[in-house]
Amino acid sequence: MVLKLYNTLARDLAPVTAPPERPLSIYACGPTVYDYAHIGNLRTFVTNDLLRRTLEYLGQEVELVMNITDVDDKTIAGARAAGETLTDFTRRYEDYFLADLAALNVKTPAAKPRATEHVPTMIALIEKLLANGRAYPADDGVYFSIARFPSYGKLSGRTETEGETEASRDFALWKFWKEEDGETAWEAPFGKGRPGWHIECSAMIADLIGPTVDIHTGATDLIFPHHENEIAQSESVYAAPLARHWLHGAFLLVEGQKMSKSLGNVFTLRDLENRGFSSLDYRYWLLTAHYRTQANFTWEALAGAQTARGRLNDAFLDLDSGIGQADESYRAKFHDFISDDLNFPQAVALIWQLLADSSLTPDVQRATLLDFDRVLGLGLAELKPPTIPPEIQNLLVEREAARKARDFATADALRAQIETAGFTIEDTEKGQKIRVK
Ligand SMILES: [Zn+2]
Repeated sequence: MVLKLYNTLARDLAPVTAPPERPLSIYACGPTVYDYAHIGNLRTFVTNDLLRRTLEYLGQEVELVMNITDVDDKTIAGARAAGETLTDFTRRYEDYFLADLAALNVKTPAAKPRATEHVPTMIALIEKLLANGRAYPADDGVYFSIARFPSYGKLSGRTETEGETEASRDFALWKFWKEEDGETAWEAPFGKGRPGWHIECSAMIADLIGPTVDIHTGATDLIFPHHENEIAQSESVYAAPLARHWLHGAFLLVEGQKMSKSLGNVFTLRDLENRGFSSLDYRYWLLTAHYRTQANFTWEALAGAQTARGRLNDAFLDLDSGIGQADESYRAKFHDFISDDLNFPQAVALIWQLLADSSLTPDVQRATLLDFDRVLGLGLAELKPPTIPPEIQNLLVEREAARKARDFATADALRAQIETAGFTIEDTEKGQKIRVK
């Protein structure tokens, strides 16, 4: 297994090293479940899936842990506004999120820990940080002292957010209970309250993986301060690197602009469906942009992806269903592309080269496409030829007879009738080819 990945911490491409005798661990910062995920969020999770599937394709066993942030300022405010308990409110959005992942053919993570189920570990970590002097209590909570962690900033090259002062950059590990938190509170030796967002990930990593994760992932906006803070907390307790490799996926622009509620360009998979696109059209489009480039989503680009995916599906269904062997030279090329920092745009281009390659037999093309699709996740194996109802079959037979008799007026009338019923016909050397519109 040789996968080269850009490592944010090393600021360079580096091979991912396979751990001996255990699965490779990936920790993915998961969603905060207070609203539908937008397509920019979902891009990150498709990238995680491509990473996981690539490692598995290369023969590496993987354990991917993705957390669910079900307690923070936004979830508490959302539950209050909806008049629901925090659990009822967050579970609903968690379900929507998992349904989105399934629609995008994202493989289910090995574990999906919820923050609220790991609070005892968060409390234990904070006690250790208080004991070793890295944390201190304040009026409204317990804070991490950045001045006492000298390597703070090593991941991002930053130590404070814009406009922040030296004194205010410390971050909350624990927030003491206040009125608007309602029922959401846990008892702790240092005072009743709730965890800060950053300590949640440090605790879930400790509980599910251990002090060191092989690959830690997230979107670029998490590098600072979230991942920097995770490092500060975990490394202050365990004196071991939090992650060997850091992978960050780039942002998504919509029509050249940052997504924002005020611009009305925050789209979800539901918005895509309402405009007649399937989630897999979106997955196909994502494959054509490298994960480290800021992709620009437009409806025209998505329509292009839909057309391309439709052509791919048709071409796949047209291939003989005989059992062939995947072509080794194409497999080698595919392997080289995906193991070179997940170069999926090249891998997708290879599909079209393969389909145009007349030196390959259809059964070999089919077997090779199925092999690639273990990573691409476009659902080729599940495709079924359309079922043509008997009355349409009869019209096809009549049309074939009319064409043979060179009665083109009747043939055209029959074509119109078949198309009105929701099908398209293409006349090929092998006869009429019918597809569902
Ligand atoms: Zn996190």
